[in-house]
Amino acid sequence: MPLTANPTIRHFKDVADYKANFIQQQQIDRYLPGGKHFIDHDQIFADLAHATSLPKNDPQRVRDIIAKSRELNILLPEETAYMLQVDDPDLLNEMEHAALEIKRSVYDNRIVMFAPLYISNYCVNRCKYCGFRGDNPLEKRRMLTMDEVKQEIDVLAGKIGHKRLIAVYGEHPLTSTDYFAETIQTIYDHQVLSPKGTKVGIRRVNVNAAPLPVEDLRVLHQVGIGTFQVFQETYHRPTYERLHPADTVKGNYDWRTTCFHRCMEAGVDDVGLGVLFGLYDWQFEVMALIYHSRDLEKWFNIGPHTISFPRLEPASGTDVPEKSPYLINDAIFRRIVVTTRLSVPYTGLILTCRESPASRDAGINWGATQMDASSNIAIKGYSDFEKETMQEKHRQQFMLSDNRTLEQLITAFAKRGVITSFCTAGYRCGRTGGCIMDALKTGKEGKFCKINAVLTFREWLDDFASPEALRLCTPVIESELKEIEQEFPRFWPTVKEHYDRICRGERDLFF
Ligand code: SAM
Ligand code: SF4
Repeated sequence: MPLTANPTIRHFKDVADYKANFIQQQQIDRYLPGGKHFIDHDQIFADLAHATSLPKNDPQRVRDIIAKSRELNILLPEETAYMLQVDDPDLLNEMEHAALEIKRSVYDNRIVMFAPLYISNYCVNRCKYCGFRGDNPLEKRRMLTMDEVKQEIDVLAGKIGHKRLIAVYGEHPLTSTDYFAETIQTIYDHQVLSPKGTKVGIRRVNVNAAPLPVEDLRVLHQVGIGTFQVFQETYHRPTYERLHPADTVKGNYDWRTTCFHRCMEAGVDDVGLGVLFGLYDWQFEVMALIYHSRDLEKWFNIGPHTISFPRLEPASGTDVPEKSPYLINDAIFRRIVVTTRLSVPYTGLILTCRESPASRDAGINWGATQMDASSNIAIKGYSDFEKETMQEKHRQQFMLSDNRTLEQLITAFAKRGVITSFCTAGYRCGRTGGCIMDALKTGKEGKFCKINAVLTFREWLDDFASPEALRLCTPVIESELKEIEQEFPRFWPTVKEHYDRICRGERDLFF
């Protein structure tokens, strides 16, 4: 495959060279001054112990903390620790109502849709819970060629109607930054025709990949990636070290935990945190997510753009997902998402197709802001499988639970008055990182997002919706238009003019 070797980044002669030399210690050390890590295990255990020493389910204390969240303040770690203990059903309901209210006041009644695109599953690591791990002989390995990337986009953008992707890669020198850049550029450049004959394509590519050095992240910034997502898996160092062998690149806990600091340094200021729930104690993990967010705020004045909540799912050649003693049930999962929503009001929360349809439907009420749909996580899964949602265990990383199509999800949400947004305007107008956080705090971003949600939803309805979906979704878009006219009279004439142009077949008009 012809790859353009970028001269500003380091290259490695083989896997052994990569494993020995990829990590740059000085790019870790500068974010751990005095060797002290911002994920202070003793502090987290002390916070949790203190929270359990207080009277449990104290309505006054819970309501005081909820009131603080409602005013869109970020909670202190000790407040999050206390909320994690709440298990009284009525108080949990109050927390859930507040979570939804907060989501509405920051993000309005919209949900952003995206799809994962698995691009390569070569991997030098051996994470014990993952089907892609390098020592799994059952896994079929492949990396997409640029023609294959285009075939995937033909389906994702041309047949399903997605505008936002998360590109996912295993970690391997064969498929490192040069390959990321080439595949991402290919995605952006590939325009296709929708079933109605309009020109469509992918407008935002987020990335989920292994941590990179600053120079490599700068290359991705230049290609125009959206969010860089790295899940920590577990913040509990002894568990992390047990699940990620020390002789692998991923075995380095500090390299992974400092990745977002390097992202910010490189100008990639939309970063996506996540924990793979089920590997260690959930309360410890939520606290660690909060401390990680606080450290980013401390250094760069920017919190995480998103937090994801993957849960362990069955995977090829491993029984860790079934046997882990820390697996969480749906009731705990709800507490995790709701408490996170209350703790970091401005951060987007992602619930993926790993979750059951019931959890994702309920997740709207917990303050989730982004979901995927029509997802296929096999390499070349979209173009190979006739049926969009088919799964094949040894070609994918794990098994999905919610196999609904994008149209099914959109119509289910529309019936509940939720509008689906495909908006990608924010990062294309430079509203990223601290800038988008400020805009969210002042309510300005909400305004743009509402308008852009309507414009992009209209595009999707006209290009991809079945007559039945169109019928079910029309009331939502009409009521949104009415709200925009009333709430933003100054913008209305321009919005209406953009909307009418989209109805006449123009595309990609945004605020
Ligand atoms: N290889 C890169 C890495 O590990 O950072 C990124 C891609 S990896 C394919 C994406 C994420 O999938 C991992 O970070 C992990 O959280 C998640 N994952 C791995 N195995 C899983 C499983 N069995 N169930 C659910 N999620 C899993
Ligand atoms: Fe490789 Fe990522 Fe899977 Fe670990 S989680 S084996 S690094 S693909």
